[in-house]
Amino acid sequence: MLQEQEACAAEMERTFIAIKPDGVQRGLISEIISRFECKGYKLVAIKILVPSKEFAQKHYHNLKERPFFNGLCEFLSSGPVMAMVWEGEGVIKYGRKLIGATDPQKSEPGTIRGDLAVVVERNIIHGSDGPETAKDEINLWFKPDDLVSYTSNSENWIYGNN
Ligand code: UDP
Repeated sequence: MLQEQEACAAEMERTFIAIKPDGVQRGLISEIISRFECKGYKLVAIKILVPSKEFAQKHYHNLKERPFFNGLCEFLSSGPVMAMVWEGEGVIKYGRKLIGATDPQKSEPGTIRGDLAVVVERNIIHGSDGPETAKDEINLWFKPDDLVSYTSNSENWIYGNN
């Protein structure tokens, strides 16, 4: 039984998701959380904060050569950001599907950006793009103690282990 539980836990991934200042200001926090929660993913950390510009530059360090880097970092630090860690099987890759393409005009209807955003500079949400990035971003935004490990009542109904 313990081995089964360990095997199950090993498949669980965690990803970093942030609702950017435009999403917070537009009152989209509950809508966005609901998309992840209704899918069956588990919220294991959450906080609201205004990141400094230096912090935003660290978060987007891989984009520092891009022409939009400065504006992007100014924008991320311009107001409250809702930072979260979501857990679930395949959550890194599928979380990106829920979010949709970077440019909302290319995002499919049904995705968060497709349904709720119009232009790329105000695409309301960030999600880690792979396992390494997810680990780095979770470590940047949260301390290990901020992450809560728990069993949700609905897990057996989501994963079919009952
Ligand atoms: N971005 C922008 N202009 C562009 C491309 C991207 O302002 O031409 C912003 C946009 O907010 C995007 C962020 O930069 O979400 C990070 O870009 P990335 O390519 O990493 O896209 P994402 O992973 O957010 O879909």
